[in-house]
Amino acid sequence: MNHVGIDVGGTKCHGVLVDELGAILAEVRYPTPHASELVALLESMFRELGGHATLGIGVPGLISHEGIVRASPNLKGAHNTPVGPALRSSLGISVHVENDATSAAFGEWQVGAARGAQNAVMVTLGTGIGGGIVMGNVLHRGAHGFAGEIGHMVVERNGIQCPCGLRGCWERYASGSALKHLSGGLSGEDVFKAFHAGDEAAGAVIDTYAEWIAIGLASLTNICDPEIIVIGGGVVESFAGDLTVVTNHLAKELYSSDARPHPRVVAASLGERAGAIGAALLVSHNT
Ligand SMILES: [Zn+2]
Repeated sequence: MNHVGIDVGGTKCHGVLVDELGAILAEVRYPTPHASELVALLESMFRELGGHATLGIGVPGLISHEGIVRASPNLKGAHNTPVGPALRSSLGISVHVENDATSAAFGEWQVGAARGAQNAVMVTLGTGIGGGIVMGNVLHRGAHGFAGEIGHMVVERNGIQCPCGLRGCWERYASGSALKHLSGGLSGEDVFKAFHAGDEAAGAVIDTYAEWIAIGLASLTNICDPEIIVIGGGVVESFAGDLTVVTNHLAKELYSSDARPHPRVVAASLGERAGAIGAALLVSHNT
């Protein structure tokens, strides 16, 4: 059976039709509308992709088990928006709505870089930091569907202000956009370009940035003991396949580092399609 998945982003909605193995059969993209028009767009995207038996949707923010978008800071007008219930009633099919990072994590776990792992943590370094946690071969959503908000672990009390209202959240130091702050205003792209060209100052910024990433990964490893950590987001491509600078810091930050196996730290393999593919497969796996 084929499945439709749609990843709702801050700027665009990305829809895919996939087969059971996650291979993409069709793909569409539209600008993300105001939340009041979101359900209508999702419905028309679903029909454009062939209107199959199931629909999975990834949305940034806090998503309840029923598919109600409780809060979504990057989605204009979204507050208690009943995306799941509205689509179930209009389409009459099985619809699953999930946090976008959790959807991406599920995609990487099922058909991407964490395939076959029993215990995995997926980390997406974007504007913020999203995450997904698999333990004992189960994707964890928590009591209310809000688990895996790893970007808001506080790593610096009284640190940098986060849009969530707290201070010192991990994503203020280790997300793709945090690199701009660490470099004193240079874009992440420029910092990495200088770093790969051998610039010493850029090297120091990347080292500090890698250390901040490792600080969060160490806490996640201490809590979850994963065999693998998958890192996604545009920044990972900038490391050009070499995450050694991160794993070196991780080895220093980890509890009882010498006495334990360390998780493998690898780059995500599905790229920007992870969220849509994961959302599509979530319905079929019914986890
Ligand atoms: Zn925060």
